[in-house]
This record gives sequence, structure tokens and C-alpha cells, in this order.
Amino acid sequence: MKDIRIAVIGAGMAGLTAALSLQKNGFKPVVYELAPQLGEVGAGLTISPNSTHGLEYVGLAEDLKKRANVPEAQAIMHYQTGEILVETKRGEIPFQKYGAYYYQIHRADLHDMLSAKAKATDPNCLVLDHAFSSCVETDDGIEITFTNCNKVSCDVVIGADGIRSAVRTDMFGPEDPKFTGNVAYRGLVNKGDLSDDLVTPPSGVAIAPRKAFTRYLVRNGSVINFVAFVRRDGWDEEGWSIPVTQEELLEEFGDWHPRVSDLIKAAPEDKVFKWALYDRDPLEQWTKGRVTLLGDAAHPMLPFMGMGAAMGIEDGVVLGRAFGASDTIDEALSRYEAARKERANYVLVKSRAARERLQSDNPSEYDDSKHKNEESIGLFEYNPGTVPV
Ligand SMILES: Cc1cc2nc3c(=O)[nH]c(=O)nc-3n(C[C@H](O)[C@H](O)[C@H](O)COP(=O)(O)OP(=O)(O)OC[C@H]3O[C@@H](n4cnc5c(N)ncnc54)[C@H](O)[C@@H]3O)c2cc1C
Repeated sequence: MKDIRIAVIGAGMAGLTAALSLQKNGFKPVVYELAPQLGEVGAGLTISPNSTHGLEYVGLAEDLKKRANVPEAQAIMHYQTGEILVETKRGEIPFQKYGAYYYQIHRADLHDMLSAKAKATDPNCLVLDHAFSSCVETDDGIEITFTNCNKVSCDVVIGADGIRSAVRTDMFGPEDPKFTGNVAYRGLVNKGDLSDDLVTPPSGVAIAPRKAFTRYLVRNGSVINFVAFVRRDGWDEEGWSIPVTQEELLEEFGDWHPRVSDLIKAAPEDKVFKWALYDRDPLEQWTKGRVTLLGDAAHPMLPFMGMGAAMGIEDGVVLGRAFGASDTIDEALSRYEAARKERANYVLVKSRAARERLQSDNPSEYDDSKHKNEESIGLFEYNPGTVPV
């Protein structure tokens, strides 16, 4: 079983975590990624204790301590007055409760940690500039064709190619993700000599009718990451990194508390982007033959619980453990899907409802006890490195 040829499609958080977990369990996966190089894309991601456990399982505990931030607390604030409406203590508390820290990190730093670790174990595990096109079962296993016309034979295909997964389309036919009526803006601002008041408290979300503005520190406190959400009726632009002018952002947030509007004014225009938020309905079946899905390819979700990357990391860890515990590929895929599908689909559905917690028609009367968040529904209690598979 250990010498089976495993092709992982997509070197995002989920695909790379799957590769690391498979390596840890004695396999030699190869990850095929469409990008010609792994670059610095994206902004901040939250790593809640459940995903910290996953990253620690694949050997990244020390890297996380060095490169991720532990927020002391997270606040919900009024968008105009800046008043703190609710504060959740973090710091050592998640470690005491769940045995793992709550971190905030730049997506590019996490991506770099994952790919460096996978390449350190096997320098040939990552093949860039290979976009999956289709696959067919043959006498020799499965033959994958890439858009550059290269072909590769393998025994099992793991589709970790994100929300617009070509593997998913190949398995189940075309079905576009749904625009959810939400647009996100993200920006990175060097803390430099900006006043400390601008990031007091260091991690928080300002809530307003139909809008929210989240910000926290990454890169050891040297960079302020912000993500702002607004509702929109329609959308026709494609991609993660559509440039945004300061004017456009100030039209949305210019009359907010100075901790929001001044931060936007301090953001360099080449570091601010927007993207539309899509998701899909839960998928009943993730596996077909010897092809399976994980991460956003299986369950793309809204970011209102900060669980998109976490679910991909959990999937990746469990997938590697499922292969490690099985005598056949079919057994491994069935153990993986049985262990993961219910939880990931549940979080997908809950992430839709969570928008209402972060946007409020009447922020001054905001009452957190009326809302369920990712911690109160028990998501932090999960450890992908130890759950039964
Ligand atoms: C460029 C980028 C920037 C992002 N920025 C943010 C951000 O700032 N904040 C945030 O919260 N989330 C961001 N996300 C989303 C977040 O990283 C994911 O929702 C989450 O981590 C789930 O990870 P995933 O590995 O399943 O999917 P993804 O992170 O989307 O990774 C999928 C990978 O598959 C590759 N791929 C796609 N199609 C093919 C194909 N046909 N063949 C081979 N490879 C393919 C992609 O290039 C990508 O590397 C970003 C995603 C991307 C791709």
C-alpha cells in the first residue's frame, strides 16, 4: 500500500496539508499545481485551535510559534463610535481549554511553511505549471491529462484544486459556484510608525448594517491585515486579486470610526484587493471510484466563521491518517469521507448563517448571546490528528 502513486491536484492549504499528512504516514504523494510559481498571494487567515492541532500533527508547531500571532483578545465594535460591544479573551485561554493556540497568520506565510516542509521531506513532491484537465481509469490505474497536454499515471487522485475545482467538474459535471451576495475587500498596511491607537484592540471586527470590517495583526505585529465585507446584488468580475482604489473603499467605509477610515487611508493602493464570495451547496458524495475531493473543492464556504482554511487542513490531516490506517485505496477513501463529510458540510451551512452575527442593523444594541459562533457550536474541540478515522 505504501508505494501507491497518489496525485494531489492543487497546492493550496488543503492539498499541501494532505501531502504532509500522507508523507508522515509513509506515502510519497506528488502535488500538481497550476501556478508556474508559488507566490505571495492572499492576506490574513485565522488558525483556530482545531486547525492548530492539524498543523502541529504535520510538524509545523515551531514554525507557527515563530510566524503566527496569538491575539490576546478579539473585540466586536460599533462601526461609528468604536465602542467595544463584546470582547472574547484569547491569549493562553484556548491553549488551556483545547490544548492548542488560536493564531492569526498571513496566508503566504502559512503557504510557505507548508510547501517548505513538504519539499524538505521529498524535493520532488511538487510539480508546478500543471493544470488538471481530466482523468480516466485505465488498466494501469488512472491517467491524468493536464492542460499543457502532459499525462501522468497514478493509482488515486485527490482533488484539492479550490472552489472552481476542475477535478470536481470532471467527476460530477459542470456546476458553477453560487454568488452569495457578499463582496470582500482585503488590505495589508505596514504598522511602521502608525499610531498604536489605530490597532487598539489589536484584533477586532467593527459591525454595521449590512457591512463589517475586520482587522488584526500578522507578521509578528509588523503588518495590519484587514478584510471588509459589504453586500452586493450582482457581480461579474473573476479572481482573488482584483485591484481596488482607495476612493472605492472610502465610499463604503469613509464615514466609519477613524480606526477604520484612517487605516484605509494608510493602505497602499497596490496592497488592496477585492473578491466576490461564492459557495456551493453541501455535496452528498465526495468520492467517485478512486478520485476524491478535499478543501474548497469539496466544501467551499463563506468566511464568516473563519473556517475555510481550517476545514481544508482538517481534511488533509485525516486523509493522510485514513491512508495510513487502511489496507486498500477503497478502504482509505471510504474512511476519509466517513470521517470528514458530516462536519465539513455542517460548517459550510453554519458559515452562511454566521454573517448575521457580524453585520447588525442596530449595533449599539448588539447582543452576542443571540448568536452562535464557531467556538460556541463546539468547532474548536476537534483534533484532526486524533479523531477516529
Ligand atoms: C490566490 C488565493 C488567495 C487567497 N486569499 C485568501 C485570503 O486573503 N483570505 C482568505 O480567507 N482566503 C483566501 N483564499 C482562500 C483560502 O486560502 C481557501 O479558502 C482555503 O485555504 C481552502 O484551501 P484549499 O487548499 O482548499 O483551496 P485554495 O487555497 O483555493 O487552493 C487551491 C489550489 O489549487 C490550485 N488549482 C486550481 N485549479 C487547478 C487545476 N485545474 N490544476 C491544478 N491546480 C489547480 C490553485 O492555484 C490553488 O493553489 C485564497 C485562495 C487563493 C487560491
